[in-house]
Amino acid sequence: MSSTKKLALLGGNPVINTPFEEYESLRDSDIAAALEVLNSKILSEYIGSSGNYFLGGRRVKGLESTWKQYFKVEYAVSINSWTSGLWIAIGALGLEPGSEVIVSSWTMAATATTILHWNLIPVFADIDIATFNLNPVDVEHRITNRTRAIVSPDIFGQSADIESLKKICERYDLKLISDTAQSPGAKRHGYFAGTASDIGGFSLNYHKHIHSGEGGVAVTNSPELALRMQLLRNHGEVVVGQNRELKDQFGIMGMNLRLGEIESAIAESQLTALTDAIESRRRGAQLLTSLISELPGIFVPEISPGNDHVYYVYGMRFDFHKLGINRATLVRALKAEGVPAMQEGYQNIHSLPLFSEQLTFRGNPLPYSLLPRKRRHELSKTVLPISEKLHQTDFVGINWCAKRYTDNEVQSLAEAFHKVWNNLNHLREI
Ligand SMILES: *Cc1c(COP(=O)(O)O)cnc(C)c1O
Repeated sequence: MSSTKKLALLGGNPVINTPFEEYESLRDSDIAAALEVLNSKILSEYIGSSGNYFLGGRRVKGLESTWKQYFKVEYAVSINSWTSGLWIAIGALGLEPGSEVIVSSWTMAATATTILHWNLIPVFADIDIATFNLNPVDVEHRITNRTRAIVSPDIFGQSADIESLKKICERYDLKLISDTAQSPGAKRHGYFAGTASDIGGFSLNYHKHIHSGEGGVAVTNSPELALRMQLLRNHGEVVVGQNRELKDQFGIMGMNLRLGEIESAIAESQLTALTDAIESRRRGAQLLTSLISELPGIFVPEISPGNDHVYYVYGMRFDFHKLGINRATLVRALKAEGVPAMQEGYQNIHSLPLFSEQLTFRGNPLPYSLLPRKRRHELSKTVLPISEKLHQTDFVGINWCAKRYTDNEVQSLAEAFHKVWNNLNHLREI
């Protein structure tokens, strides 16, 4: 075993000498689906006015129909990115400007910027230390009489605690949106993550489990919310203006967020790859967990009861007091052994100047200026102890979605961890 030999960081040979093989995310069948659209010479069939094609062409409708059957929901609304999806989801709620929307700080910035885009106020709540998803107890503490909705990410591959969040929503009459960009196919108590909220949705960008280059799909069981999202993605005001049955102009300030026919065809084809993709990532992650979980001072990914995990990120915490080294040293040592795709910390988007200094429209602090001064001040001082500590000192993630690790590759990852743990005393001296 090389695991007792000299660390690569200190001049020894690395456990992993050659980088792991890249995996191909597009299959021949996905490429054939795209070519079929190209050969049809119709790359989009949307029309931004009333009529048959207001809801898109053949492939857009095909994708949405397959998607809603797969995820067992009433409505699927495709868009050109999941950022666009968050924008139509929040817009569809029709909330009064200046209303507060509770959101996690451990997510991609779009989860919160799309709140600001509607002149709503993102209020950040802390996360659960074990799952990195919103902590419902902290969410409830941050509710005020201005709160109208919660946007809850299903981060790294598993669902948030939706039952608890829904109870809070019932108690305070709030809407719930799930950002399931990272967790398509993950289940909670048998249902798909993202499908138990008022609106959920998925990203189809290149870096996610399945993709069409760019793209996204929002899902809901509410006919009213589905209609509003369809209007928002395609210049809804023209239809509302023409159609006497649609008098509700409220919140319908539309955009062009339409997904093309090529991307729709690829996305529909990629959906048949989802089970395989998450199975292989789950298998690799479970193997790694079984091989490294006994090392002292490491906390491998925890799965919340009722969940299964699709491992977009393999997220770990460490007790660095116990290890006697800091995070930067640990990551440098693992990297030197050849462990790829690690990130120190994740996100703390509440500390971005956009939110913490309320620096929105070139210095005009809309929508924050809709709040009483005291509340603005309070929000600028938001403290999230768990999010901050994990980001600053305790968390290391491996971008697990970037590859499909073979059993041999996982064995060598685990060997790198064991080698570093066997040499902690040497790392304490540098
Ligand atoms: C990727 C991602 C998004 C944005 O999706 P796009 O399709 O890239 O716009 C939003 N939220 C989370 C948590 C994500 O991981």
